[in-house]
Amino acid sequence: MPDPDLIHITKLAEMYRRLGERYGFPQWRSHGDAVDELVMTILSQNTSDVNTGRAFASLKAAFPGWQAVVDAPTEAVIEAIRSGGLANQKAPRIQNALRRILAERGAFDLDWLAELPVGEARAWLTQFDGVGNKTASIVLLFSLHRPAFPVDTHVQRVCRRVGVAPANASADRVMATVEELAPAEWYYPLHINLIRHGREMCKARNPRCEKCVLNEICAWYRA
Ligand code: SF4
Repeated sequence: MPDPDLIHITKLAEMYRRLGERYGFPQWRSHGDAVDELVMTILSQNTSDVNTGRAFASLKAAFPGWQAVVDAPTEAVIEAIRSGGLANQKAPRIQNALRRILAERGAFDLDWLAELPVGEARAWLTQFDGVGNKTASIVLLFSLHRPAFPVDTHVQRVCRRVGVAPANASADRVMATVEELAPAEWYYPLHINLIRHGREMCKARNPRCEKCVLNEICAWYRA
């Protein structure tokens, strides 16, 4: 019986190489301030990138700073982010997260998380309502350049289909598998390429398997 870890690491390495040859190996670039990234990622839940950007810009335009967002009536924050969808849910989450960051750190600052081991930093962020491992990992990887691997629906789907993780693996299981098996410098390019691949080729419905650079190693295709 082949060692499942060996299968996963071999596929992971091959997937990384093939996606990189297809799309390039994106270099890490800062996505900006970590508090901004946290707020933006909360806004991005269950909506498109366009709506997220619109809601974030509207929030920034409506208030002069994070303190004003914390002090504002929740209805005013809801109004400011309405274009992003689920505003009734997201506004209190944003206010609560900002309030706790300020209460615990005395400033709207998350840069200090870069000094913590990733597991501790992620555990600190996931205390907030509405912040799961995906959101926490995005903040850690994109803003703070820490070795955290965010798993969204595209990343999860491609990894499961190819067989990098079990076919029924949760997003957290996929995250743990990649973080255990892949070198940290792969996380950023692999994440970016998997999202692109999931959107353009390995769609939830009607994946374009015949044209896919992963089809030779894909368990789902072979089955
Ligand atoms: S072969 Fe098909 S199922 Fe497999 S990764 Fe490519 S598009 Fe997705």
